[in-house]
Amino acid sequence: MSNKFDLIVIGGGSGGIAHARRAAEYGAKVAVVEYGPLGGTCVNVGCVPKKVMWYTAAQMHHAAHAADYGFDMAVNGHDWSAVKERRDAYVTRLNGIYERNLGNSGVTTIIGAAKFVDAHTIAVGDDEYTADRIVIATGGRPMVPEIPGAEHGITSDDFFELEDRPQRVLVAGSGYIAVELAGVFNGLGSDVQLVVRKDRILRGFDIMLSELLMEAICKDGVVLDVGVVPAAIEKTDEGLVLHSEDGRSFGPVDTVLWAIGRAPNSEWLDLEKAGVERDDGGYIPTDLYQQTNVENIFALGDVTGRAQLTPVAIAAGRRLADRLYGGMDGRHLDYELIPTVIFSHPPIGTVGLTEAQARARYGDDNIKIYTSGFIPMYYALGDKKVRSMMKLITTGPDEKVVGCHVIGDGADEMLQGFAVAIRMGATKSDFDDTVAIHPSNAEELVTMR
Ligand code: FAD
Ligand code: NDP
Repeated sequence: MSNKFDLIVIGGGSGGIAHARRAAEYGAKVAVVEYGPLGGTCVNVGCVPKKVMWYTAAQMHHAAHAADYGFDMAVNGHDWSAVKERRDAYVTRLNGIYERNLGNSGVTTIIGAAKFVDAHTIAVGDDEYTADRIVIATGGRPMVPEIPGAEHGITSDDFFELEDRPQRVLVAGSGYIAVELAGVFNGLGSDVQLVVRKDRILRGFDIMLSELLMEAICKDGVVLDVGVVPAAIEKTDEGLVLHSEDGRSFGPVDTVLWAIGRAPNSEWLDLEKAGVERDDGGYIPTDLYQQTNVENIFALGDVTGRAQLTPVAIAAGRRLADRLYGGMDGRHLDYELIPTVIFSHPPIGTVGLTEAQARARYGDDNIKIYTSGFIPMYYALGDKKVRSMMKLITTGPDEKVVGCHVIGDGADEMLQGFAVAIRMGATKSDFDDTVAIHPSNAEELVTMR
């Protein structure tokens, strides 16, 4: 095998694979370097196994309403390890598919950890490889706080290794992973405590979403405490106890899960040998075209610190290949209006500005907010109701929609199409002029007054 390539991609995750395959399809001679299983975070310890667990917990939520629909049904237990086994087998199948797809696209896979030797050369073990261009798509990893006893806690990576469901769980954090995994544990019957450092969960999201989700998960049995800054974890005979900076204690529990954000995989790449800069957080800054401060070196996906989502990494990777190898000058990813879903129970779908961001950007007098709150028809026959809420944020005389936020059943599947419309510049009257689909939850978005 020749060690000279047109393009070397470091990292065989969502972004790296998407970029490598697209570039190879345009005719470039491409290698991907990966030390772990192919597919990266999303396939192995992220979106995919997480969604399986979300579906698992969703079965329990449906079972809670079965009697409303006339079923005489009892859930006699749940076999966590059986789901894990099937889930792992599915992930292994996906690893194989990624490997075959790389091969089918003509991409060479190099197994090992890459380090820079210079701006055109990387080393993997004792071998060196050169390329005209190098793309860094090394993703990130879960962070653990630097406090005494933190090592007794687990991370989202370890969550996917659990053979059994712990009964008493404390989740520390307030973002996507905290609420998603707290929801999985709670849905499947664990006693869940969620401790949040500030005053609410999902602080970066529209306040309507975080307030309603806090209400919903607490109703569902999660014990939520705010203002809890972790100071130490103590291992006691009864279990793990988390002590907070203000002297409170939480626990004992069987498992503490850290969900306090992720750090970029950039420090072991010997970037300084290629002259590539990192910012204070260790992220690799790029321009609009994913180019780092070094002309032939690019970065994309989580390692750049922008919108850490799989479709974002994929889109950045494909567009970069379109530009560099497909003759599409100027093509790049626009990081505005990225839709995203939080797989909580109930789920959240959101795109665009929050109300606070819109007020700050356009001023209170230049925005108009539409909201709707309702109980979906699904709950009409029973006593246990899960509320939905929607918010449309518009600006200007033509009421251009600049934010759309939904929490409630179906929100996860609802937002994709609305995101297209909003990206195209839809106004409130475009929403109003669209005939509703009835009976559905989504119709509320086109019938707001
Ligand atoms: P990664 O997918 O992390 O790939 C980076 C790869 O680089 C890894 O395979 C790593 O092993 C490899 N690597 C690192 N350093 C080196 C080196 N020196 N040499 C060789 N290889 C190296 N996003 C969504 O859109 N939807 C979701 O539902 C969702 N759920 C998530 C749930 C969890 C629990 C987590 C943790 C993340 C979730 N994400 C989700 C985020 C998503 O997984 C990431 O945004 C996405 O994987 C980023 O892709 P990437 O290519 O930048 O990095
Ligand atoms: P997030 O960035 O979403 O949330 C972490 C939060 O934890 C911070 O925002 C902060 O909130 C809080 N926090 C930070 N440090 C501490 C600390 N020392 N002690 C207590 N709390 C702390 O990170 P996640 O780990 O949840 O997820 C990482 C990324 O992965 C997400 O941002 C997302 O991009 C992606 N992801 C996407 C998913 C999806 O698409 N459905 C699912 C899962 C992950 P505060 O400041 O309010 O305290």
